[in-house]
This record gives sequence, structure tokens and C-alpha cells, in this order.
Amino acid sequence: MFKYLVAVLVLVFGAVIWMYFSVGVPVLYSEKNVTVRSVHRMGNLEQPLSRIYISAFYFIPKNKEENIHNEWQKLLHKKLDALVRFHTVQLQGASSILYEIYPEPIIGNLDNLAYDTSITQHGNPAALRRIVPEIESRVLAKDGDLYRADFDHVPPDAYHVLVIMYEGVGSTGGDNVALISRIFLSDIEYAAVSESLLAHEFYHTLGLPDAYTIPEGIATSADIMGLGRYRPIGQTFISQKMLQELGL
Ligand SMILES: [Zn+2]
Repeated sequence: MFKYLVAVLVLVFGAVIWMYFSVGVPVLYSEKNVTVRSVHRMGNLEQPLSRIYISAFYFIPKNKEENIHNEWQKLLHKKLDALVRFHTVQLQGASSILYEIYPEPIIGNLDNLAYDTSITQHGNPAALRRIVPEIESRVLAKDGDLYRADFDHVPPDAYHVLVIMYEGVGSTGGDNVALISRIFLSDIEYAAVSESLLAHEFYHTLGLPDAYTIPEGIATSADIMGLGRYRPIGQTFISQKMLQELGL
């Protein structure tokens, strides 16, 4: 009986040793396969985007104070939350967004005609030329009349973006500033696509260009920079090509 047991054990051992050398041990996880993805601004490897910090504002021309939206803060929160969710999924967690909303509406020093242009088909970029310096000098500079020490949390290693909800016309995105009309974010007419319109302008701040022809407006991509800006945020995306440009 004992002899049989020894024989069985020898066979089992032999089988295990044979399997080890001939079949091999499966490798389930290899450190070599893990690459650290470092996302960066399109066209600028020196500007990392692993952490993005948005300072958000509601800006109102001096003569439009009576138009202030009752629930502006709730509105802006909702739209920025949607942007954060979209960004986290699209960038596959390689880039995070934190945001802070300036707690009061900012009443501009000037009337709307001073901020706007007569032609806004191209998104009213002229508004940025006057609104941004005003926010910089009045809110962000320590000696500004609207400076608040409790609104000064930009982490030093974060990419800082300004998002301006504007009580006026147009929408536009530039180097590190996105501006969008409050009407696009609140009106029922734009309800289905408002978050995508905001995201479109935001991605300009990361360097992504428009994916449509100007002035015809014919989309050259289906993603958020092209036709996808007119789709609900849950049904749009950032193209693989643009993700690669961001370092993914
Ligand atoms: Zn655009």
C-alpha cells in the first residue's frame, strides 16, 4: 500500500515539475506593461494637465444687472459638474479638474456695448479682451476691489483656467479662458446641448482647435470640437486623435 502511495506522489511531483518547465507559469501582471501617461496641453509638452483648476465667474455688464439669473450659482455648479464627469471619463482619469465659483456675481465697470462686438458669429472673442483684464485686476490681484483671500486656492502645480458665464452674447475659448453666454447654459432651447457647448469652449483652453470650417461651419469631426458640440454631453466624445495630442 505504502509503495503505491510513494509511486503516486512521485508521479504527481514529476507532473508538476514537467508542467513548470514545459508549460511555464502564466504571468498575470507585469510591471513593464504599466506606462505613466502624462497629459499635457496640445502642442506644449511643458504644460502638464494632470491637475486642472478652474476659477469660475458670473460676469454681468453694468447696465444688465436686472438680468441676473436667480439660480446662477446652482446653474454653474451643475454645468461644471457635468464637465468634470465628462473630462474624467474621456481623459481616462489621467487628468482631474477642481473648480471654485466666485461667490458673488461680478458687476462689470462698463456697459455691455463696451464688452461686446457687433459681430458675434465667431463667438464674441472681443468680450474676452475687456472682461479678462478686468477680472484679473479686480478679483485675482491682491489689491483688487473684489479680491477675496478665501478665493485664492489655485494649487501651484495646477493648470489654471478661467471659466466665465457671461450675461451677454456669444461663447468663445482661448489660451486659458473660456467664456459662455448665460443664455446657453439656462435657456430651454439649449438645454440638451448646454454642457457640450461649455465643454467645447473649455477644450479650447487645453489647446484643442475647432473641427469645423470657417466661415461655412461644416464639421470636420464628429467629436466635441466638431459636430459633437451639438450633441448631449453623454453622447459626445473627444476624438482619439485629439486625445493623442493631449498625450494619451
Ligand atoms: Zn470653438
